[in-house]
Amino acid sequence: MQIASKDVSAVDMVRAALDKAKKYADYNIFISLSEDAALNRAKEIDEKIAKGEKVGRLAGVPYACKDNFLSKQGATTAASKILEPLKAPLNATAIEKLEAEGAIMIGRVNLDAFAHGSSTENSYFGVTKNSTDMERVAGGSSGGSAVAVALDIVPFATGTDTGGSIRQPASFNGVYGIKPTYGTISRYGVVAMASSLDCVGFLARNTEDLNLLMEICAGQDPKDLTTLPDYYTKTEKKEPKKIGVIKDFDSDAIDPAIREVLRQKLSELKSDGYDIVDLEMPILKYALAVYYIICPAEVASNLSRYDGIRYGYRSEDAKNLDEIFGESRSDGYMKENKRRIMVGNFVLSSGFYDAYYLKAMKARTLIIQAFDDAFKKCDYILAPVSPNPAFRIGEKVNDPVAMYMEDILSVTLNLAGVPGVALPVGKTDSGLPLGLQLIGPRRSDKNLLDFAGKIGFKIDDKEGK
Ligand code: GLN
Repeated sequence: MQIASKDVSAVDMVRAALDKAKKYADYNIFISLSEDAALNRAKEIDEKIAKGEKVGRLAGVPYACKDNFLSKQGATTAASKILEPLKAPLNATAIEKLEAEGAIMIGRVNLDAFAHGSSTENSYFGVTKNSTDMERVAGGSSGGSAVAVALDIVPFATGTDTGGSIRQPASFNGVYGIKPTYGTISRYGVVAMASSLDCVGFLARNTEDLNLLMEICAGQDPKDLTTLPDYYTKTEKKEPKKIGVIKDFDSDAIDPAIREVLRQKLSELKSDGYDIVDLEMPILKYALAVYYIICPAEVASNLSRYDGIRYGYRSEDAKNLDEIFGESRSDGYMKENKRRIMVGNFVLSSGFYDAYYLKAMKARTLIIQAFDDAFKKCDYILAPVSPNPAFRIGEKVNDPVAMYMEDILSVTLNLAGVPGVALPVGKTDSGLPLGLQLIGPRRSDKNLLDFAGKIGFKIDDKEGK
């Protein structure tokens, strides 16, 4: 990634990114652009460079911010009506760290409202179009982030991944994305979806850039008590020898093009001298059901704070306190948000708690153990991210279960807290990007990224790899 210097000015880089963002307006990537603020910051950086002052590791680099990170710049909507009027009073820790190194937010990008979804179709601001086929979805929830990077508007974008929201849109658009080990990057100042699953990460065009972003953002934050002490920058270099493949994932439910690209990659790895290890992880067949109990339970709790009183939108029709709560939430949330609040409150309610929530938590422990056991037999696991390449706009949005099935291969990592890197590996006959995910044990993120870069496509090299 290019940083500003005496030869390349931050103003030129930011202006070029803003121009491209406007040129691609039809893709509906940005919810808001902040031209003046971005150009002013760029000028400050250029002045520092001219004076010979020290600048950061991301000096003048324009980036797109997923619209669920709080920042003083722009409005933080989480792509919802209920937060549309919200002017955040603070910066998320990750934003603070990026900007301290000189990165410049050019605007805020689209997502499924509150990150609930796998296509960006649940956004209050409309769907984001796929970077290779405008009739298809960008994926989600970080759809805006993925398309902004794929169309080379910006070299990187922030993302959040609760059940696949970085990896799936990255693979639908042929870019790299990392969902770190749970707790690696602070969640402070990020609109909470499901707190025990939420991870902050990034999307970019190569793994070197992702590594730099991780070095900058990883580490303990007193404002997020689930953050881990910085292990990332202290990781010792380790090359993998054994690559696992989850046999339970190799089913007819997965698109043949994805299965084929996985088979090809594995055979390349085998001829390069890696051992390929077959893994049986039958517990994973429950992962989607477990996720769609635990995630809504936490969503119901996290979304209870938006009540029309403290933040954001308040219904004008409300005549008393109960109506303020009821009408504001009823108007302000999207259908999918409400569905999750209802399911979440149901699985937590007395009489159903033991049958659903408690059981799901027990199954989650077994899923964690299954990954721990798997990593005794192999170093990393290579797997599909989603069962299919980018689907058509409108194809699944009215069938929630079909949409949830999208997440069947991605949610397992969040339940187990392990890291995953989405890497572009090929294309379908019609040119749609195909991605895979490389999964590693907790805290292996740095070496995992390095290996993903070795086996993934080189995006900026026209020949591919
Ligand atoms: N698609 C998944 C869901 O809708 C994951 C979303 C996410 O990671 N934010 O829950």
